[in-house]
Amino acid sequence: MKNSTLANAINQAWPRISVTSKLDGIRSWSLQALDTCPGSIESPGVLVDACKGCYATTGNYVFANVKAPREYNRTDWTRLDWCDNMVQELQRDEYFRWLDSGDLYSLALAEKVLEVMQRTPWVKHWLPTRMHKFPKFRQVLDQMKALDNVSVRFSADSITGEYILGLHGSVIGPSADTFQDHPGASLCRAYEHEGKCSGCRACWDKSIDLICYPAHGRKMAKVFMMKQA
Ligand code: SF4
Repeated sequence: MKNSTLANAINQAWPRISVTSKLDGIRSWSLQALDTCPGSIESPGVLVDACKGCYATTGNYVFANVKAPREYNRTDWTRLDWCDNMVQELQRDEYFRWLDSGDLYSLALAEKVLEVMQRTPWVKHWLPTRMHKFPKFRQVLDQMKALDNVSVRFSADSITGEYILGLHGSVIGPSADTFQDHPGASLCRAYEHEGKCSGCRACWDKSIDLICYPAHGRKMAKVFMMKQA
């Protein structure tokens, strides 16, 4: 029995781990989208374009059983033994995705995630984030980036393919054609495989500077329509 399953069965405090169908069964620790995403705000009441079409605010993510573990995790990480629990939970994982939804909204949380990454060198960690916008997070993010087993990708805010070379590690564009001439970039081809990674692990690959995601989903289509109106 998995540690998380065992803990749930006896109702102990334990990190809630999720699995997204896109990622070939790779597991994730997540928080509630937008509530924990200070980097999503462009100005008061206005989200950056990339977050206006966020997949984690629609579809399955609105169901109570999907929201509940994310809300639970928001306070659970403050426990003294949370890092120990996470290290134990990841004993058999080869790949791990931090924050399928949500972001590292607290510096204390970021420092704990760094500790988990340091104590699980057998796991390849992928962390997409917008917390690089806040100077106090840069040191802990740099420490994560320095680890051989960690791929930290600063997300660009654009949905039209603009990014800052050397800063951003991922960007969204309207279609695959947008990215034909991007140097050092890798195109996400999940759209060719019914939206699934299907063995691709480019997001975890530190040698790839930039991942380019063609926009998808109805909510993102609406964002494009509003931009063109
Ligand atoms: S680039 Fe590869 S690993 Fe990343 S989301 Fe797309 S298919 Fe998955």
